[in-house]
Amino acid sequence: MMMPLQVLLVAGTHGNEINGIFLFDQWKKSSLSINTYGIKTYKVIGNPEAQKAGKRYIHQDLNRSFQEESVLSINSSILEVSRASQLVNLYGEAGENPCQIALDFHTTTASMGSCLVVYGRRHADLALASLIQNQLGLPIYLHESDQKQTGFLVESWPCGIVVEIGPIAQGLLNSRVISQTKLILEASMEKIHQIKNLNLFFPDKLIIHRHIKSIDFPRDEEGNIDGYVHPLRQSKDWQKLKKNDELFSKLNGEIIRFKEDEPYIPVFINEAAYVEKNIAMSFTKRELWDLKKEWKQSLIDLVNQR
Ligand SMILES: [Zn+2]
Repeated sequence: MMMPLQVLLVAGTHGNEINGIFLFDQWKKSSLSINTYGIKTYKVIGNPEAQKAGKRYIHQDLNRSFQEESVLSINSSILEVSRASQLVNLYGEAGENPCQIALDFHTTTASMGSCLVVYGRRHADLALASLIQNQLGLPIYLHESDQKQTGFLVESWPCGIVVEIGPIAQGLLNSRVISQTKLILEASMEKIHQIKNLNLFFPDKLIIHRHIKSIDFPRDEEGNIDGYVHPLRQSKDWQKLKKNDELFSKLNGEIIRFKEDEPYIPVFINEAAYVEKNIAMSFTKRELWDLKKEWKQSLIDLVNQR
């Protein structure tokens, strides 16, 4: 049976990242129109309970709750596990309103500008990210090889990308963040529309910032944070590190420096939500990848062979 392509749009997966939520609310009230190029979309607030509470989450991070086993646990006492299950039942590929692609809109307190995040190396994700990068010039952060961070929302859909926009404090509206969210949403829908109509050229290459590892803040013997991001490192996301560059400062004047030989590129520097995850920043490697034929085909098949 032919099924129409449907796209799931999520904002507020983290309840205190409110710019996407605001945009969706205004859109639903018809205070503004967003061009989805005739493609059926579902606009969903990821974690409405956390939004009401003005928090990132109630029991645990929703964007780490899409574990395969938890997807069946609609009756879980952990609110986010139950919500993850509900979202998959409602909008998953085999759900009531089946969506094939998910776009998940986030904000960050780090000075990342706008970027795309893909998890692992799924072909359709990489192909779609390359198209959006080619149109808007956004960096792509490839999150992989991190055993401690799993269960991301978009991984429960056949194709899914996270959009991160910063810097913005949690719980605050900002005109630039709102307009960039709209711009990236429309550009993404335009690309999906073009794939549907087989009316586009894929770029030959894409630039990837591949996740290497995350580092913690300096800590004392009791495990308390006793240092902070060095002023020369603050807001320097995407800027290559050299050996002996400053990473952290302490009030006693001690400076903790970058000791590696690889010119890693830091991202999510001082992201507020990652303090509890013991992450002060993450290191990536910038790589130029050839766009593989099978990636394009995977995305074209997903969008068209319904
Ligand atoms: Zn978020």
